[in-house]
Amino acid sequence: MDISKEYYTTLKNNLEKVFERVENAVLRSKRRLEEVKILGASKKQSPEKIQVLYDLGIRLFGENYVQEAEKKISALEGLSIEWHLIGRLQTNKVKKALKLFNVLETIDRIELAVEIEKRLKDSEKKIPVFIEVNIGEEETKAGVGPKDLFKFCEELSQFSHLEVRGLMCLPPYEENPEKVRPFFARMRSLFEKVKPLFGPNFKELSMGTSHDFEVALEEGATLIRLGTILFGQRV
Ligand SMILES: *Cc1c(COP(=O)(O)O)cnc(C)c1O
Repeated sequence: MDISKEYYTTLKNNLEKVFERVENAVLRSKRRLEEVKILGASKKQSPEKIQVLYDLGIRLFGENYVQEAEKKISALEGLSIEWHLIGRLQTNKVKKALKLFNVLETIDRIELAVEIEKRLKDSEKKIPVFIEVNIGEEETKAGVGPKDLFKFCEELSQFSHLEVRGLMCLPPYEENPEKVRPFFARMRSLFEKVKPLFGPNFKELSMGTSHDFEVALEEGATLIRLGTILFGQRV
């Protein structure tokens, strides 16, 4: 049997359940469904599964590692996927990342902006980016600390080849997703605080994973990054 047919039923089911939960969360918070995008977090998932989710209507996919992404993006060439980088970006991978990805979600240091600026200086291109916030102030996680965010944004707004579209975070893991709510709420208030520094395209709040996307949506997420709940376990 065709491998993608085998996946089709499972992934369609997964997606239908997710849609229902997203709709309910959006309704509960009196928001509009059009404000919300689902990104398939596809690290360690096969191109076949990505293709199936694409056929089911998903257009945004996020990869964590530049090398892994390179293979998949070329395997899926021709599909109109908006590829997001959602893992840490090393400075020496900026050049490659600019070729592969449509959006870089993990800008967390000025050094990266300097490198992007250097790589794009002879072009008209502006790369859409999100700023990653270390909302739980965890030592093991990347991102700009909440207290440093305003100053960081002021500096970042000076770069002409970056279009800052929003904020992104991966909050501390909590068994009970309700415990993550304060972090999402704080992201929302940081978002409002720095918004005036950027243009009209600053409107994304990328937060929420399989485990806590409903809470994230209730607190204002515009983009949820779903891995296992859509694709099944990573291999
Ligand atoms: C893996 C990953 C996700 C998705 O996590 P799941 O728990 O599988 O939904 C979302 N965001 C980032 C940054 C990730 O690395």
